[in-house]
Amino acid sequence: MLFSRFFAPTSKDTPADAQIASHRLMLRAGMISQTASGIYCWLPLAVRVLDKISRIICEEQDRIGAQRVYFTTIQPANLWIESGRYDSYGKEMLRLRDRKDGEFLYSPTNEEQATDVFRQYVQSYRGLPTMLYQIHWKFRDEIRPRFGVMRGREFLMKDGYSFDLNFEGAQRTYRDVFRSYVRTFQRMGLTPIPVQADSGAIGGNMSHEFQILAESGENTLYYDRKLLTASGDELSTIFAATDEKFDPQASPIPEKELMVSRGVEVGHIFYFGAKYSKSMNAFVLNDKGEKVFPEMGSYGVGVSRLVGAIIEASHDERGIIWPEPVAPFDVTLLNLHVKNERCCEMARKIYDAISSERDVLYDDRDITVGEKLADADLIGIPWQIIVGPKNLENGMVELKNRRTGEVVKTSPEAAIGRFA
Ligand code: ATP
Ligand code: MG
Repeated sequence: MLFSRFFAPTSKDTPADAQIASHRLMLRAGMISQTASGIYCWLPLAVRVLDKISRIICEEQDRIGAQRVYFTTIQPANLWIESGRYDSYGKEMLRLRDRKDGEFLYSPTNEEQATDVFRQYVQSYRGLPTMLYQIHWKFRDEIRPRFGVMRGREFLMKDGYSFDLNFEGAQRTYRDVFRSYVRTFQRMGLTPIPVQADSGAIGGNMSHEFQILAESGENTLYYDRKLLTASGDELSTIFAATDEKFDPQASPIPEKELMVSRGVEVGHIFYFGAKYSKSMNAFVLNDKGEKVFPEMGSYGVGVSRLVGAIIEASHDERGIIWPEPVAPFDVTLLNLHVKNERCCEMARKIYDAISSERDVLYDDRDITVGEKLADADLIGIPWQIIVGPKNLENGMVELKNRRTGEVVKTSPEAAIGRFA
């Protein structure tokens, strides 16, 4: 991609109303454009990140047998009247009417619709277990949209819904999703803190939130320091709580092991038994021909919130520092002097050699060296290959690591070899 053609309207100005780093940096890097309170257009740089995040999610969902669908954003009110949530959902739900005066809504979540699709097609225990998920836009008319994409009104969510024949099956599914979420967030370069969000009593509801540490987070987390180095299944057994649930008098771990940090919720998983299958009369027949209401769970990831959360967890005073797996490009190639023929020739050669295998943003714009370097640090692509006339005289280019700031001089061939 040539930067001169790329729609990334970067800016030096610090937006006045943006309170947190991710909001400021996303505006300055030309990733989002606000159209109304809590409603944003996502520009090319940001879409690339959404796509990278989505791909990781899809791969991990695939591994646990979940299947991707698109439910609808516009839904008939009837589905929600059946489940009893049409009134209780309250003002967060955006309600609409069509030309025939039919009542509709813009989906804030899809338990009802998933249950409806399920009941239309699955009548036998042989169709279980099954899990469907989507990555789609949601609308919630939040009282206080804020912090840019972190608490928007329109936002992109991965939402999944599982159906099992009995409690044991539903438990297994819940554990599979739990593990898969840990992997999903770790693959994005994050350290997820799973926090028990409900009683966990047998037969009752189970729920975990996945939090990411960030000073700007809306939640306060109390957790055992072991969580920071734990892996896999261990994570579900180590103590963590949000301030709503935490009682310092009854802390299960000694004070010197207890960590307190701010956190951002990036995922939330629930087991809720037959709540929706019963209220919506979605049953199957078991192997004895008896009517059974499937045990369900739902599993959400805040895909658009993650873009902000990743930036909160990974930036410095100069800009964003993308973890490689979710970076909008793998490499940015900076041609410091676009009027210098040798620079252009060399930059072109490097670009042609690596762009077929890697996502490369080639900054071919006719702007000052200072602006070019500042934009590269702002946008935060993990690697920069810098082509300038002085180094070129010695047959060298520079390779800069955005995270460490380390710059090494290397031959163009070695730079190409690093990526191609
Ligand atoms: P919160 O407590 O932050 O409002 P929630 O419990 O309402 O979240 P869920 O209904 O579990 O959220 O939705 C699943 C995920 O969607 C959340 O974990 C979060 O990452 C994301 N999410 C929820 N509301 C928003 C929002 N207004 N803007 C962006 N992402 C959101
Ligand atoms: Mg909410």
